[in-house]
Amino acid sequence: MDRIDNHTTVKQLQLGLAQGDFSSVELTREYLDRIQQLNPRINAFITVTEDQALAQAEDADNLIARGDGQAMTGIPLAHKDIFCTDGITTTCGSHMLENFQAPYSATVIEKFNAQHAVMLGKTNMDEFAMGSSNETSYFGPVKNPWNLECVPGGSSGGSAAAVAASMTAAATGTDTGGSIRQPAALSGITGLKPTYGLVSRYGMIAFASSLDQAGPMARSAQDCALLLQAMAGFDRRDSTSLQRDVPDYEATLEQDLAGLRIGLPAEFFAEGLNPAVAKAVDEAIEQYKKLGATIKDISLPNSKFAVPTYYVVATAECSSNLSRFDGVRFGHRCDEPKDLEDLYKRSRGEGFGAEVKRRILTGTYALSAGYYDAFYLKGQKLRRLISQDFAQAFEQVDVIAGPTAPDVAFKIGDKSDDPVSMYLQDIFTISVNLAGLPGMSIPAGFVDGKPVGLQLIGNYFDEARLLNVAHQLQLNSDWHLQSPEVI
Ligand code: GLN
Repeated sequence: MDRIDNHTTVKQLQLGLAQGDFSSVELTREYLDRIQQLNPRINAFITVTEDQALAQAEDADNLIARGDGQAMTGIPLAHKDIFCTDGITTTCGSHMLENFQAPYSATVIEKFNAQHAVMLGKTNMDEFAMGSSNETSYFGPVKNPWNLECVPGGSSGGSAAAVAASMTAAATGTDTGGSIRQPAALSGITGLKPTYGLVSRYGMIAFASSLDQAGPMARSAQDCALLLQAMAGFDRRDSTSLQRDVPDYEATLEQDLAGLRIGLPAEFFAEGLNPAVAKAVDEAIEQYKKLGATIKDISLPNSKFAVPTYYVVATAECSSNLSRFDGVRFGHRCDEPKDLEDLYKRSRGEGFGAEVKRRILTGTYALSAGYYDAFYLKGQKLRRLISQDFAQAFEQVDVIAGPTAPDVAFKIGDKSDDPVSMYLQDIFTISVNLAGLPGMSIPAGFVDGKPVGLQLIGNYFDEARLLNVAHQLQLNSDWHLQSPEVI
């Protein structure tokens, strides 16, 4: 019984379920089998929610039989373990939350539940979403399905690997500085980081609140459109959620690209970029020319400040957000504390891993009274300049394109002792978060058998256009249809 193959899409599953080709229970069992078979090698899931998934699938089948199915009814999905799920452990990849069960579900989860989607489980991630390789997870590294010696990217590496290895139809991720797009690139899938404020952050464990956004990770742009449709929308429980209508993302996918203006920022094709990755990106751009797009050279002069700016702003915000993990209200608590101070120190010392501690220390320093102006305030000013660069660019072009990451997937362990080289993984993605813009990564070829990602950046709330531009390339290329040998 093989209803799913290595490139089954959510779209195909929707049609199959609607036509009665298979039931959601049958599908769910098949994905659970694949998880059982592959997860010991890939480590993409921290928790597999088998019983609940089958119960949800049964409910979904009943609804579909009654004609009450919605777009996501019965579709098996996996969620990054950063989203709170009522009654199911939410670890955020940390020892600190190893046994944490949230008393409520994140809005994103509720929205999928409301449509009776199926949750297969919670995916592995860098601890508190801090990392670019999934190696900072307390639950061990995730292996890249394309090459099991390599990282899948991070921090949403479990979701990326699960989609790449067809252990789920699609998944959710979050992106603070690149954590949807960079793992999508390194794992050969399609991922979208929405405009800040489009998807509710309620119930999503905070890393850097002014940058965090949730988004879809899937096999195709069309699938990302379907998932985003379910995820997006105003939520009064998130004060940064924006009140505006959500367009029909699928409706505009087929528009042709004649007259589309694509900008190529000089800064994204400079030193540090693997020439073979540059070549693959160039080929994708050539395709766009054939599809009627015009290409324009542009400049984002302040993007050179993006990585240092991010590591001031994000660490400052994380030092504040993570202060709630004090061993008192929830999270890990040390054994037999001597006094309150000992309780705080040892609970946090034992609960957090090295990278999280490094960030808390850096952020606390950047926010300290004597250094606030020199670091945090300056970071905020640079953030403004970075946003202004994009605003100017979008006066001349509709979409900005370039590489998602400077290189293809690297070996596990290769960068773990060198935080700065790890931080440079996000050199092309981070400015998008600082500006709050939407960005995508789509497959654009291979180097040494490892996937390359093309990044597309849009103006605020231009997700429909990004999805259209990505979908049109996917109609005219087959990079996204390749699948790794592991399966
Ligand atoms: N890699 C970046 C970091 O380590 C971005 C992570 C993210 O987007 N969550 O912070």
